[in-house]
Amino acid sequence: MRQDTPAPAVTVADLSDTQPSAFAHVPLVSPGFVNGAPSFTTHDAMVDFVAGLARQSGHARLSSLGKSQLGRDIPVLYFTREGLADPEAIAALDRPVIWLLAQQHGNEHAGGEAMLVLAAALASGELAPLLERLSIVIVPRINPDGAAADQRVLASGNDLNRDHLLLSQDESRALHAAMRQLPPDVVFDHHEFSVARRWLEKFGGSHSLDVMILEATHPGVSRKLTDIARRLYRPVLEATLERHGLSSHDYVTTAADKSDLLVSLGGNAPGIARNAFGLRGSVSYLIETRGVGLGLQRYQQRVATHYLLAQALLEASADEGPALRSAVRAARRAAAADRSPLVVAHELARRPLELPLVDPQSGEARPTPVTLADSRLLATIEQRERPHGYLVLRGGEAVAELLALLQVRTARLAGPARLAVEAYDVARRSRLSRRAGESINPDRSVTVTIRAATIDVPAGALYVPMGQAACGVVAAALEPDSPGSYLGTGVIPMNEDETEAPLYRVMDDSML
Ligand SMILES: [Zn+2]
Repeated sequence: MRQDTPAPAVTVADLSDTQPSAFAHVPLVSPGFVNGAPSFTTHDAMVDFVAGLARQSGHARLSSLGKSQLGRDIPVLYFTREGLADPEAIAALDRPVIWLLAQQHGNEHAGGEAMLVLAAALASGELAPLLERLSIVIVPRINPDGAAADQRVLASGNDLNRDHLLLSQDESRALHAAMRQLPPDVVFDHHEFSVARRWLEKFGGSHSLDVMILEATHPGVSRKLTDIARRLYRPVLEATLERHGLSSHDYVTTAADKSDLLVSLGGNAPGIARNAFGLRGSVSYLIETRGVGLGLQRYQQRVATHYLLAQALLEASADEGPALRSAVRAARRAAAADRSPLVVAHELARRPLELPLVDPQSGEARPTPVTLADSRLLATIEQRERPHGYLVLRGGEAVAELLALLQVRTARLAGPARLAVEAYDVARRSRLSRRAGESINPDRSVTVTIRAATIDVPAGALYVPMGQAACGVVAAALEPDSPGSYLGTGVIPMNEDETEAPLYRVMDDSML
């Protein structure tokens, strides 16, 4: 079942749409706004537009992340003052590298359109001065197949925004391969949220908020990166929203299951882009406008909102300049040196929240009390001593390839060795499943017990050290009971009759 598709163009009264838009003054230079009445930008128009910017601007260089599953190009634009195209040369400029990503979900059009507006403003327009202090990468439409079909998911039916640890889809692999070439200091991920659907089904109201925002919340994300998100970007977002009279809240969502009335602050799965970007060592922020289910209603406002927020975030990044890059580097060094225990199971604190829903017919306010699971308030259920590294004795090639895309360094044992390690005894709790047909994170499909063991390790075995910036990715991928782990998803295969995982924790630093 697909969560948000097919989306009826207009399912609820949206009375405020009849009022003149306060955003009409924001000039939007993009294909969707060329002829008066706005429209969704076709794939060909998007490709032509970005190619035109790169031709006309000395700052913009056009490249491609690769092809989508149905063979559509996925453009990426690199913006530097010098107009560099080579990722290594851009990295050598030593300016903060900011990635902006949109339309992971194809039917969330406003973010993608705003990226085109932003690209035009950087190419030669009013935002070009930002390139004195920043290098900026824009992927306006990472899911072009979904956009063409006006659907949330990829052509395969999978949700791209759950696949940033497993990298089982062409689009996620292409993105992370490019990020490996030019690692982001900061990533802004632009989405739209559903106006009605589940909210209407469960609570009898539709969403009235204009914007929802959230930083990375997975417990493995460096605290220092999260602090940058909260200290530098949150006040900027809040001030910009207030200046433009937009209502906002931390990003909340609720499960597809109608009987489940819990509302969650984001989610903590490591395969969600917002979290995965944080785990690989970047500051990460999710920005959502109210849009899925609205068709082209309020499109000017929705696109302008993404654009104004992106502009404000980039300006704040430029003001911070070299200090931003230093702070991200310090966070990565601290992560690499961290010896604190790993949180392997946690519970989210629950608290009451009043959701500002509205009556779907009259548009009247209908504040609705709900219970919120707050992903920022974690109670640890189980923690585990942090290993110095992991030995992967089966599936090592696939594991090394995936982890390399996620900025993880791995090594091979030079010769055979007999080693004291910790072994996992695996009790499968449930069969591998794709939740609701679209998620790639089979939560808690595996449970384990840990015991000391001595094993013979062959030459060439894969060793993944934890003493590196992307150690959060390593633990999320390799602790078997982490949601979407490589053991749980079969990247590290196990036979039905086996109990001992072909995956071991190295607890001393002798391998370093
Ligand atoms: Zn989305």
